Amino acid sequence: MYPPVSSQPNLPALENEVLARWAREHSFQQSIDMRDAGTDGSNEFVFYDGPPFANGLPHYGHLLTGYVKDAIPRYQTMRGRRVERRFGWDCHGLPAEVQAEKELGISGHPEISAFGVDKFNDACRSSVLQFTEEWRDYVTRQARWVDFDNDYKTLDLDYMESVMWAFKTLWDKGLIYEGFRVLAYCWRCETPLSNTETRMDDVYRDRQDPAVTVWFELETGERILAWTTTPWTLPSNLALAVGPDIDYAVLEVDGERWIIAESRLGAYEAQLGEAVQVGSLKGSDLVGRRYSPLFDYFAEMPNAFQVLSADFVSTEDGTGIVHMAPGFGEEDQNACNAAGIDTVCPMDEHGQYTAEISDWVGQHVFDANPLIIRSLKDSGRLVRHDSYMHSYPHCWRCAEPLVYRAISSWFVKVTDVKDRMVELNQQINWVPSHVKDGSFGKWLENARDWSISRNRFWGSPIPVWVSDNPDFPRIDVYGSVAELEADFGIRVADLHRPVIDELVRPNPDDPSGTSMMRRVPEVLDCWFESGSMPFAQVHYPFENAEWFEHHYPGDFIVEYLGQTRGWFYTMHVLATALFDRPAFSNCVSHGIVLGDDGAKMSKSLNNYPDPNQMFEVYGSDAMRWYLLSSPILRGSDFSVTETGMRDTVRQVVLPLWNAYYFLTLYAGAAGTTGSFRTDQEDVLDRYLLGELAELIDAVTESMDAYDLYGACEQVQGFLDTLTNWFIRRSRDRFWEGDQDAIDTLHTALVLFTRVAAPLLPMVAEQVHSGLTGEGSVHHQDWPSSEDLPRDPELAIGMRRVRDACSTLLSLRKSEGLRVRLPLASATLATPDVALVQPHIDILRDEVNVKSVDLTDRVADHGTEELVLLPKALGPRLGGDTQKVIGAHKAGDWSFDDGVVTVGGIDLVEGEFEFRLVSDAEGAAATLPGKGGIVVLDTVVTSELEREGVARDLIRRIQTARREAELDVSDRISLSLEISEVVADAFTAHQTMVESETLAVESSMKIAGGDEVIHVVATERR
Ligand SMILES: [Zn+2]
Repeated sequence: MYPPVSSQPNLPALENEVLARWAREHSFQQSIDMRDAGTDGSNEFVFYDGPPFANGLPHYGHLLTGYVKDAIPRYQTMRGRRVERRFGWDCHGLPAEVQAEKELGISGHPEISAFGVDKFNDACRSSVLQFTEEWRDYVTRQARWVDFDNDYKTLDLDYMESVMWAFKTLWDKGLIYEGFRVLAYCWRCETPLSNTETRMDDVYRDRQDPAVTVWFELETGERILAWTTTPWTLPSNLALAVGPDIDYAVLEVDGERWIIAESRLGAYEAQLGEAVQVGSLKGSDLVGRRYSPLFDYFAEMPNAFQVLSADFVSTEDGTGIVHMAPGFGEEDQNACNAAGIDTVCPMDEHGQYTAEISDWVGQHVFDANPLIIRSLKDSGRLVRHDSYMHSYPHCWRCAEPLVYRAISSWFVKVTDVKDRMVELNQQINWVPSHVKDGSFGKWLENARDWSISRNRFWGSPIPVWVSDNPDFPRIDVYGSVAELEADFGIRVADLHRPVIDELVRPNPDDPSGTSMMRRVPEVLDCWFESGSMPFAQVHYPFENAEWFEHHYPGDFIVEYLGQTRGWFYTMHVLATALFDRPAFSNCVSHGIVLGDDGAKMSKSLNNYPDPNQMFEVYGSDAMRWYLLSSPILRGSDFSVTETGMRDTVRQVVLPLWNAYYFLTLYAGAAGTTGSFRTDQEDVLDRYLLGELAELIDAVTESMDAYDLYGACEQVQGFLDTLTNWFIRRSRDRFWEGDQDAIDTLHTALVLFTRVAAPLLPMVAEQVHSGLTGEGSVHHQDWPSSEDLPRDPELAIGMRRVRDACSTLLSLRKSEGLRVRLPLASATLATPDVALVQPHIDILRDEVNVKSVDLTDRVADHGTEELVLLPKALGPRLGGDTQKVIGAHKAGDWSFDDGVVTVGGIDLVEGEFEFRLVSDAEGAAATLPGKGGIVVLDTVVTSELEREGVARDLIRRIQTARREAELDVSDRISLSLEISEVVADAFTAHQTMVESETLAVESSMKIAGGDEVIHVVATERR
């Protein structure tokens, strides 16, 4: 016998039971141990866990990623692979430091230094791991199998040593350099940021800035106009740039001549409306002309104050003439340096002017804007002053507006390996596939050198020691703890600041013995560390060198799409530069989980359901299914709602449970249980087992392609076949205790729960173990469709019948004819008559008609029409699309030798389809896939009406039985007080009513008022 099964499961309680059993039986570890690793790990499926920061609680984005991180390894395990899963923690970097500054109430380098770098880093260390227990709870509750006890942390000595090795290896390959380059810079965090960090979500926000137009006096006497939204950079102006092919106008008013791009004249109507154009110049005519400095701070700079030619100058806004400050713009720096103009950067690490700008020294540059504008106005140089709203980058950690400034920083020469990165990307399977040449491929093509040093405290140190006396230059780069210990003569147990900074030794190249080797102050970008995860998590190359050789690239990673510029990218850079291989073979990149209002999830807006509450109400399997079956796994963004989770319970979890309950109920009533069998002969049994074979093949294909969305769709489709077709059409057989039916449902549920196990791991576990009494479903092998019977003709025939049924039932609905009301006839015209014929009784019964006319004369009821698909046409045909649509409407098309020609243009597959269109009178409709046409006879005779009323009565009696809590097999005594119409129907169909409701005796009288249906059990079977 099956164990007792509740008809109304408490899903969260049921899940907690499963979680407890897994913990008790060490099911996760077992699932690994039972699979052999194979020679050199050949049977291992290698999963890399992208490390989260643990200084905040997990949100839906993490939960979604976690579900994918779990579903794929569960599937691979059932396929026989050994899948180790280690949890990882990202510990270093700005997120930790900004948090620690907040907690300690200090800010900025001087305060941190005064507080003590050691104490500050201690605070970072505890802050960054403060939520690890909560993470473990969430991850466990979401039924994710992952090893927390054997986790890796980027702050571990072993991990940091591998990172150090990576730096040294890149250095030895000539791929690391120190440069004085313009970078995005946070003056609050006092550190430069990388491209990766300035391209993250929310970095660009609207900001209001002043926009000023000023004039410079050319040596030839004209006043040339330049425009800028950063007036604070004007004191550092060293050049102007023009586009060589842009046309510039020379205007004259009041004896002064002005120069501005011709196409920008309209924007300066108010200022130059009275001027007369007296000449025209190409940008190239202006190149090389000198001008007088606006301010005199850098008046002596060699080569400065000339007009340069630059391709990036546009005439979209401004004046078509660009002011250049090489210390504050990357393009400015490149153009100026090429013209022999040095980079000057008169701003300190706090964003304040240095002494070089003597008038405003110590002034924050943003605060200096109004002062500078005033000064320009006073000197008569200000032509125009506007306010300008633009999208401006902000710090991803502290949200202050960034500046661009030249700063000394360490770089990885990504541009040297860029081409190879592009090549190796072609070896990666991306899901969805457009990411490969889309967001990731494009980002690679435009890759620039990676600024990897941060002027901060909490991170892996840049392992470079330099001489403190430039007269005796020397640079030492270290790649291991052993090398450090050899040179500095002490044991090194911690690579963090300030300990690492205390390693100082005399410069061996200095015979005077006075200069010392000191570490450069910077630490590494934390993205360098997370990008090192594949080798650093196993302390490569100091340990596990051989293991790593066989486990790289990893088979599978998953994160959200934005990581194409983050973790995916930094792993790919390091993999290419260090190993000339991709880091991963398959990458799922999903969209962003949004709040229920379609906006970003926000605690203060309270626009998303609390995950813990959802676990408590609907369970984690419902949440898992809900997220995995959403378009977010095909790269779209997705709004998470409580309704969505409730619907999942109703549409997926409960139907599965109800099928299981139904089986145990009827098998129990028959005093039997089901057995695993596939030799049944009943047509519905064979149909269901054939559909199951299809399901197994389809889900296998989807899961192999990492298409969880597709797998969910297939599983749900089969569930519909199982519950809404097989079980419903087989009720009589279950009622009779038919062993074949019971065995079929048993077999289907056993295999179905195996297929659904990665997607509904806990519900599948409960059902599977209840059916089989065996251990975990997750220790089972993935089922094979080869053990199941297949009958393609049966499958097609039954599919047509199901299509015909659902189409006829929707016709009934639209005609307002309830299903219990019998109708005289329906017609099914289909090319597959022979395949449908054997199931015609099912069709008749299902749609409740007295007879079905089956015919292959489809043409008698409808015609095939050509339908255009403009969405597919548009991109290929462009302007011709409308022409084709017009020709089609006018009937100007042909179909010859499989080629469709419309208005003289040949269409390609996918741009059109042939659809069957019904031309029958009355209630008629076509079946999907050119399956045919159905026609419903809608005439209701009084005889049919009476039978319909009798069937309504049966329904009401069944409800009364349920309300009286009778067993399905209880015989009853029935007494009715009913209206005359119902009484008339009852009298006409008394035998049918009695037999269907198990009434052994009945009495009836006409009701004076409300109708009463009374049922009493007479005997129990
Ligand atoms: Zn910042």
